[in-house]
Amino acid sequence: MPTSPPAAGRLSSSTRTSVRNYDKSVHSPTFEMQLPSVVSLKTFVKPSTHPAFTRFNVFLRDRFACQYCGARDDLTFDHLIPRSRGGTTTWVNVIAACSPCNLKKGSMTIEEAHMFPAQMPFQPTVHHLHRNGRMFPPNYLHESWLDYLYWDTELEP
Ligand SMILES: [Zn+2]
Repeated sequence: MPTSPPAAGRLSSSTRTSVRNYDKSVHSPTFEMQLPSVVSLKTFVKPSTHPAFTRFNVFLRDRFACQYCGARDDLTFDHLIPRSRGGTTTWVNVIAACSPCNLKKGSMTIEEAHMFPAQMPFQPTVHHLHRNGRMFPPNYLHESWLDYLYWDTELEP
């Protein structure tokens, strides 16, 4: 077995390399720069006043209506600055939009598409979301948004 020791040596060497790379990417300044909203939400912002950045809460902030045309069906999300052009998935860049509007806007900015949201996205307070929640009948959200766990998952930036 003359080839065995070198093979083992290569294996452990490659393992060490991958661990080092993983460690490096997690702690690099570049990586943290990509997550400013999550970092601030979890460490600096009071959870009682600043709600989690979830699909449900984004829709609640936007009153479950497309911010371009007002439609209430077929809702999805639109990035004002498209992700393909460096836009982040954050409170201030994501709005509720129906699929047709989302498709129409594509990878354009709102200026290029000449599509302007009724309300520019912002970081809401819990109070704001509660106020919006009272605008809907008790069973309205329950029927439309059954998969609550999915909707309550924090969005990936
Ligand atoms: Zn629309």
